[in-house]
Amino acid sequence: MTSETRESQITDLYGENAFSLRVMQNYLSDSAFASLSKTIRMGSVLDASIADEVADAMKTWALEKGATHFTHWFQPLTGATAEKHDSFVVPDGEGGALLKFSGKELIQGEPDASSFPSGGLRATFEARGYTAWDPTSPAFIKEGTNGATLCIPTVFCGYHGEALDKKAPLLRSMDALSVQICRLGEFFGVEPNGMRACATQGIEQEYFLVDRSLYEERLDLIQTGRTLFGRAPAKHQQLDDHYFGAIKKRVITFMTDLDRELWRYGIPARTRHNEVCPAQFEVAPMFETLNLAVDHNMLMMETLRNVAEDHNFICLLHEKPYARVNGSGKHNNWSVDGPDGKNWLKPGDNPHENAKFLTIIVALMKAVDTHADLLRASVATAGNDHRLGANEAPPAIISIFLGEQLYDVIEQIEKGPATSTKSVDALKLGVTALPTLPRDATDRNRTSPFAYTGNKFEFRAVGSEQNCAGPNVILNTIVAEALDDICTQLDADVAGGKAFTEALQAILSATVTQHKRILFNGDNYTDEWVAEAERRGLPNLKKTPDALKAMLSDKAIDLFGKYKVLSEAELKSRYEVYSECYEEQVAIEARCAITMARTMIAPAALEYQAELSGSIQSVEATGIGEAEEPRAVLRDIFTETNKLLAGVRALEACEKAGDPLETLAAMEALREAADALEGLVPDSIWPLPTYTEMMFTI
Ligand code: ADP
Ligand code: MG
Repeated sequence: MTSETRESQITDLYGENAFSLRVMQNYLSDSAFASLSKTIRMGSVLDASIADEVADAMKTWALEKGATHFTHWFQPLTGATAEKHDSFVVPDGEGGALLKFSGKELIQGEPDASSFPSGGLRATFEARGYTAWDPTSPAFIKEGTNGATLCIPTVFCGYHGEALDKKAPLLRSMDALSVQICRLGEFFGVEPNGMRACATQGIEQEYFLVDRSLYEERLDLIQTGRTLFGRAPAKHQQLDDHYFGAIKKRVITFMTDLDRELWRYGIPARTRHNEVCPAQFEVAPMFETLNLAVDHNMLMMETLRNVAEDHNFICLLHEKPYARVNGSGKHNNWSVDGPDGKNWLKPGDNPHENAKFLTIIVALMKAVDTHADLLRASVATAGNDHRLGANEAPPAIISIFLGEQLYDVIEQIEKGPATSTKSVDALKLGVTALPTLPRDATDRNRTSPFAYTGNKFEFRAVGSEQNCAGPNVILNTIVAEALDDICTQLDADVAGGKAFTEALQAILSATVTQHKRILFNGDNYTDEWVAEAERRGLPNLKKTPDALKAMLSDKAIDLFGKYKVLSEAELKSRYEVYSECYEEQVAIEARCAITMARTMIAPAALEYQAELSGSIQSVEATGIGEAEEPRAVLRDIFTETNKLLAGVRALEACEKAGDPLETLAAMEALREAADALEGLVPDSIWPLPTYTEMMFTI
């Protein structure tokens, strides 16, 4: 086979299951294609008159791909994706059938979606939800073994337009950010000319694989996604010998299939490697427009799960499948392309562009410092609570890492043009060029929750199972607000007769002074930082119940209301849904732990206890002497079994009382007894696959 044939095999496959602009071109008239591509590229309003033609084109393409059904695909507040299929089949009235798909069906759907959480947004009498096509994210084909479904990305809202999903606020926040970025651009002579600014995103996804047969013996994994019991094995990740190691044959076979499936959806999968913990891996795509990247990440998680099953693996996306070793996160790489199509988080080629770049950096400082509590809330989930601050992931304290050089530049800005410092001459915006910022020098700190990495910010506190929409809604909106404040002040100063550069210099200097406490270049994992952050007055909201409260503050209500991203009712509904979800998840874990301890672990312990005491009795009956050591083991088993059963009773009481933090503490106590028993009871009767088996036998 020639290399060209091989190359075309891959390029032909890329995007074959996505109704992208490239594909559409072959199915639409020139005028419909021009109109739709304008909507997609520029976010302009969809021309409803082309809907029928687009629907027909989509149907033709989908039928060629073997689809019999279509579905509006959406992202309700459960954090998962949702779909309800309709077939294209319509009776023709004469006993036969036609295959139909209208523009109306493409644009709007009415799934009877009354069972989705709405946090009180919908009264039952108007429980119906509506889905509306998002043309900026290509429709795609999901294949089964004997058929296929056309999936149409949509937003999901209530009768009065209330957002019942994660996508609607994301799109609104992207608009809010675009407005302010374009506004800033105008100060620097960048005319938007009808183009939008656009947030970009690349999501690094971590995951674990476990053999399916072992998974099926773990009630905790099946029910909760994480192991509620399990003794740490002698060897796990201490030697760092899994990280970037040679990928095992069975795993690379899986990864090869995974990449192929992702490419077929048009998901630009690019890197793959072994992660720190044995049986842990990462996949990352090339960055894309934010809302597309979020959709693609949701589809990527589903594909990970499906392809894993084809290989007799189960893909674990939980943030902490195994205790005492690394959990999984999702690095949320975020940047902004201006209306000129350039990345505005890259230092520019000239002083003028650098002034714009620095304005955005300072705006980010202001945004993150003002709303650190909201960013923290955006990553608050039951699963992520086990990971944040566990010396493997950033702490619950939000701070920004800029790297030494950029930090130095920011200090120059604060001091203003009048002073000079020893390292670099004080910066005069718009006159002095920035020192070159080498990309690698900016990324040495892996402990920071929010790090500048040369051309983007990397929010590292997001959990592996989370929908990234939530954190990015916050990020877009808080940056929009900070830029709005800066631009409004600039407008006023310039109107008052100040020269632009001086006005900007003064605003940035004052903003840095006010918000520089958010900058931290050191090791975020240390106790010194926790103490220092407290001195600086930075919030340290350790657990979800405290963190989520930020969503109810007046500050948050004003912010999201002002930029029309979430109304007060929509914001409160999210607080309700996320709090309830957290409480329910903890309760499910507690009930699962109780069942496992009572029906699996205690019986095994009692069985061995009986066997051992029988054995001691019969040995001692021979008159050989006292079985001292076996008696000591028996005593340990007796003690731990008592602890286990008392722990079950205590956990039951906590679960009934309904305090999640106390329930979690009781689960931890129960686990200690169970894990101690795992080290005492013979392997041959221990009822659960061990950590060693699960981590090392793939
Ligand atoms: P690292 O692995 O060191 O964090 P990479 O360069 O591999 O850095 O980038 C990680 C992720 O960041 C990738 O998904 C990449 O596409 C994404 N990324 C790179 N540039 C941007 C950008 N301008 N906006 C958003 N994401 C980006
Ligand atoms: Mg990264």
